[in-house]
Amino acid sequence: MQINDRLRRARVSGTIRLAQAARALQEAGRKVIDLGEGEPDFDTPSHIIDAAFDAARHGATRYTNVAGTTALRQVIAQRFTQKNAIDSVPESIIVGSGAKQLIFNALVATLEPGDEVVVPVPHWVSYPDMVVIAGGVPVLVDCPAAEGFRLTPERLAAAITPRTRWLILNSPSNPTGAVLSADELSALAEVLRGAPQVAVLSDDIYQDILFDNVGFASMAEVAPDLRDRTLTVDGVSKSYAMTGWRIGYATGPADLIAAMTKLQGQSTTNACSVSQAAALAALEGPQDCIADWRAAYARRRDLVATALGDVPGLVFHQPQGAFYHFIGCADLLGRRTPGGVMLNTDNDLSLHLLESAGVCLVPGYEFGAPGHLRLCFAKSEADLDRACAAVRTALAALTD
Ligand code: PLP
Repeated sequence: MQINDRLRRARVSGTIRLAQAARALQEAGRKVIDLGEGEPDFDTPSHIIDAAFDAARHGATRYTNVAGTTALRQVIAQRFTQKNAIDSVPESIIVGSGAKQLIFNALVATLEPGDEVVVPVPHWVSYPDMVVIAGGVPVLVDCPAAEGFRLTPERLAAAITPRTRWLILNSPSNPTGAVLSADELSALAEVLRGAPQVAVLSDDIYQDILFDNVGFASMAEVAPDLRDRTLTVDGVSKSYAMTGWRIGYATGPADLIAAMTKLQGQSTTNACSVSQAAALAALEGPQDCIADWRAAYARRRDLVATALGDVPGLVFHQPQGAFYHFIGCADLLGRRTPGGVMLNTDNDLSLHLLESAGVCLVPGYEFGAPGHLRLCFAKSEADLDRACAAVRTALAALTD
């Protein structure tokens, strides 16, 4: 079968590939602690599950509006308006099968072949490949650790060309946990005011997972004058431990939401009706899980930094949000395993840690930043303790 060029050029999602390698080891009887996949280890709160059962028993088993049920879009519009100060009405909301689908659809709906999309690096694994599949060209902009992994106005300005259609922002960031302040966003907005061809895709999926009293700001809030070219994307996956329910949502300019709705109407129709009812219960119901889990994630972040922070060759940065450590490991490259195999890349190191320590970490090259390992700390403290001890032992056994 002929596979088109766009898809051939896209990579298989690296985190999924690594998870498959980990699963294969597990199936062979090995114990693996998976700190690779990025999802909360908590269960979806029971009132949300109850709401899903109720909805399924009371008729929520049919197609819904393509853009989502009216009830859910109303609650989402209120949430954007009240929580993020992004004035929204239900008509400006689209619900999709995860934030991922909405980001993908926004790119597919807007990019012409060769259009450029500015993606700050380190980036979430999927952005560049989504751009490629949509026919665009990802323009990767390095945001080094020395600059806190944050996009600066200077770097943004240098990346913009007449072909630039989008800037993708992700704060708090997967993989670095960097959070852009309102002032930093304002400075980026100033650059964008001089580049009217550029729209902003603000991926706010980790906005509820913040540490050290750091506040959250979003581009559409900070720069209301850019709202007619800003798409704000969020969802229930990370905030409510609902990754498997596949519900994301977005608000943005009417013509873009209409185009995304048209595309969804010709592909998946609506997001799962039962999941939409569950998402409604999540957004309307008690919110204590957010504060409780945030405290748990902060403890786990610190546990890992304490357990591994003094290991020679590992460089820790303090994430302000999300649930990842993005650990520098460049100094360990070129060292040898006890079996004499040289570890040339972060991928080699990650595979060695999987095989020798039974710990799955994602190599930084997946995020456009070789020389790093991403560790997801949304896992039990017992697993994190065990994993850190095993990593420490495996790294201590490396030789020059
Ligand atoms: N955006 C970022 C930065 C993510 O890390 C993820 C999931 O890992 C998503 C979007 C996708 O979220 P969803 O489960 O809503 O598709």
